[in-house]
Order: sequence, then C-alpha cells, then structure tokens
Amino acid sequence: MIRSNASEMAAKLVAGETTSVALTAAHLDRIRAVDVDVHAFLHVDSEGALAQAAAVDAKRAKGEKLSPLAGVPLALKDVLTQKGIPTTCGSKILAGWRPPYDSSVVANLKRNDIVILGKTNMDEFAMGSSTENSAFGPTHNPWDLTRIPGGSGGGSSAALAAFQAPLAIGTDTGGSIRQPAAVTGTVGVKPTYGGVSRFGLVAFSSSLDQAGPCARTVLDAALLHEAIAGYDPKDSTSINAPVPAVVAAAKSGNVKGMKIGVVKELNGDGYQSGVRTRFEESLELLAGAGAEIVQVSAPNFEYALAAYYLIAPSECSSNLARFDAMRYGLRVGDIDGASAESVMNLTREAGFGREVKRRIILGTYALSSGYYDAYYGSAQKVRTLITQDFNKAFARCDVMVSPTCPTTAFKIGEKSNDPIAMYLNDIATIPVNMAGIGGMSLPAGLAPEDGLPVGFQIMAPAMQDQRMYLVGAALEAALLSKWGAPLLSQAPALAGS
Ligand code: GLN
Repeated sequence: MIRSNASEMAAKLVAGETTSVALTAAHLDRIRAVDVDVHAFLHVDSEGALAQAAAVDAKRAKGEKLSPLAGVPLALKDVLTQKGIPTTCGSKILAGWRPPYDSSVVANLKRNDIVILGKTNMDEFAMGSSTENSAFGPTHNPWDLTRIPGGSGGGSSAALAAFQAPLAIGTDTGGSIRQPAAVTGTVGVKPTYGGVSRFGLVAFSSSLDQAGPCARTVLDAALLHEAIAGYDPKDSTSINAPVPAVVAAAKSGNVKGMKIGVVKELNGDGYQSGVRTRFEESLELLAGAGAEIVQVSAPNFEYALAAYYLIAPSECSSNLARFDAMRYGLRVGDIDGASAESVMNLTREAGFGREVKRRIILGTYALSSGYYDAYYGSAQKVRTLITQDFNKAFARCDVMVSPTCPTTAFKIGEKSNDPIAMYLNDIATIPVNMAGIGGMSLPAGLAPEDGLPVGFQIMAPAMQDQRMYLVGAALEAALLSKWGAPLLSQAPALAGS
C-alpha cells in the first residue's frame, strides 16, 4: 500500500478499500523501519497524525464531502510552523520552540484533511544543497545511503523516495525543492513567487522563498499544489488571482504545438555526461509527443549564482537577527548575571552552524555602508537582467527547460569543505527564483555511468504554472511507457523494509 501514489491512495480511501488510520499507521511503521538509516525526519508526530486520520475517517463515514487528498499522509519540511509541534529549521538555536500558530500552508493542509506525519530534516535555515548543514546530522539518499539527498529539503524528498510518505512539502529559495527532487528520483515544484503563502514559513531570503509540493508523480504534485496555493492576506507578497489550473493540466498532458525552449547556457560542458544524455532523450520524447523544441539563450544567467549569493545572504542577515536569545528557543548564559548582549553572543555562537554564520557575515558586509551599492545594488540589477532574459526567451517559447542539476547525488562529505563547489549545484535552479517564476523537476531516468537519478527542469512564466504540469505530465507518460515501471521501483531496497 505504501508504494502507491497519493492519488491511488486517495482512490482507495474513497472506495472504502482502506482507511486513513490504516494508511497512516502503515507509513508510521515504515518510518520506524527505515528512518534509522535514512534520517528523513526530525520529529514524528504519531499521535497527532493518527488522531487527524481518525477524524478524517469519521467525516468520511458520515458522508461529508471531502477534498481530493483527504486522509493521505504527508511529510512537512521543518521550516514551516505547525501549532504545538517542534519547529527547528534544522538549527540548535530553535531548540525547544513550539510555535503557537499554524503556517498558512499547514492551515491549508489541515483544511484539506491531509494528514501530517511529522517534520523533515533540512539544511539549517534552508541554507545548503545537501542537508549536511542540519544541526541534527545528515539525511541519506535512499538510492545510495552514502550519498546526499540534495538540499535544503533533503528530508522531504528522501521520505518520498523511501516510501515513508507519498506527499511532502518543501521550500525553494534557490533550488531546495527541485534539486533534492532531481537527485532522489522524485517530483518537486517551486510555484510562482506569491502563489503559495509564506505566512509561517521561517524566513531565509524573503524575496526568494517559496513553499511547494513534493511527490512521486506530476499529478500528485498538482493535487497538493492546488491544496496549498491561493491568496492569503497574511502574506503581503501573496498574489490575489485564481490558482493556475494545475490538476487539469497534469491530467491532460497534451503538449501538441507547445514550444519548448532549451536554454543554451544551462546545458554545457559543466554537466555530467549521463545528465546530458537523459536530458537529450527527454527532449526527443517531448518532440515525439508533439512539442516543438527550440533553442533559446539567456546570457545573463551566467551571473545568477554570484548575484544570488549576495541577495540571499543579505536578506538572511536581516531575517536571522530575530534569533536573539530572548524570543525563541535556545538561551545560553545567565540572563541575570550577564548583559543581554553577552547572552545574545553566547547563544548565537552556540546555536548557529558554520554555514549560517558564513552567510550572516557575508550579508552584513554586502549591506554595510559604503559597500551596499557595489554588492547588494549590483546584484539587484543582475536580477532585473535575468528577468529580462526570461521575458525575451518566453516571447519565443511556452516553457524553458534544462537539466535540474549539473550532476547526480554526490557522496556525503565530498563537498562539505568547499562552499563554492556546493553552491555550484544550484547553477540551473537559481535563475527561476531570481525572476519569481515557476520551476519543476521530474525524474528523467538514471545516469548510465553511476545508476543514479537525473532531474529534468521545466520553467514557466509567472502564474502560468499549469504549463509546467502539461509538459511534466507528457514527459512522465512517455518515460513510463519506455521504462514499463516507475523509476523508484528500480531503487535498491532499504534494510529494515
Ligand atoms: N542551495 C541554495 C542555498 O544554499 C538554495 C537553498 C534553498 O533553496 N533554500 O542557498
């Protein structure tokens, strides 16, 4: 039962072939069996999940009209608040903090009766590409436990790939939904900025952060997308417009006559050969499904990474100032005997990890008087140029595509001491965040040289998210008929399962 997709589970619930309590219990068993090896979860809320499941079953028994994913379990990235449930953001500084309110994403999940199993592991405050920056130890990739599951939302994607949950929520500031999806053989979507509320999403870089759906199929991602998206007056950047019809698009998958733009700058020599092979093969399949493949160029994407690593740290240095030892979580030192400043210093020294400190220092420098224009100001100008590149390219195509990441999953520890090598993972995902548009990653197969999953990225103009689902569904269907079974059925079995 746990190997089905979320929509198949939902259909069984509707048909009365299973209950949400049974489904939830089966996933909790699976978590107990494999999470010692995978470490996808930071907190499992067995009691809360089973209570929520029992409540959905009761509603169904009464004949209440329920939403499409009602009763299906989900794993939640630990950067979103859930009332009364520990929320750490993968950091020691939030130790012991239980938020007094639900994020809007969680409120929407609850409103749709989606059962929340627990909180998933992540790089501290979502800063990283491997989940190795979690203060609670790394998550392991279910395809090969010695490898990273991507980051920052490695816990959410690993949970899907290890069949610990059929649905998950991630957040994506520079690729943290799409890159983990790519390296775990799962689907991840970063919606248009403003499409999903950021209320209760602990801020890393507010102008880039966006929550989105993670799943094992494009249709499941679409169903979850519609459940969490929509206008929210509690988020000043929320878009007051109808949610794009992503479920209808995922069900249609008709790409006849669509123009698919291959980004010249995101497909070059720096990409692993098996990544390029699978990318080219996917393009052929899309052409076979009736799409027209065109070449587009985005010359300013070259500067996206450098600009991102000024903008994101700048915003982080401001956002993380709230962790001052007074309001949330950890407090080191004697508040009565010492100055507030020394308590703050001791707490931040002990509570923040190396990468978070690096970014706070970098961002503070980039925003400092005398350097602001040269660093932060220039980076903002690059951001405008990237948006213009997208606009020009979208005048010639309906979606743009590229490999999601330059390589497949690397070994745990391989890049920990080389921040630049780590940052380069995001070279193809960052432009989307800079322009505030939508991006999806779905599995394109295994790289022949290492047998590890490769991701295919689809980018669509703002509030045209349905186009990613059209193309994603078409490619997924073509690949499925080629493989004969979903990619994850080829993943090695985990011990304890
Ligand atoms: N890997 C990128 C970073 O370290 C993106 C992270 C994210 O999307 N949250 O900032």
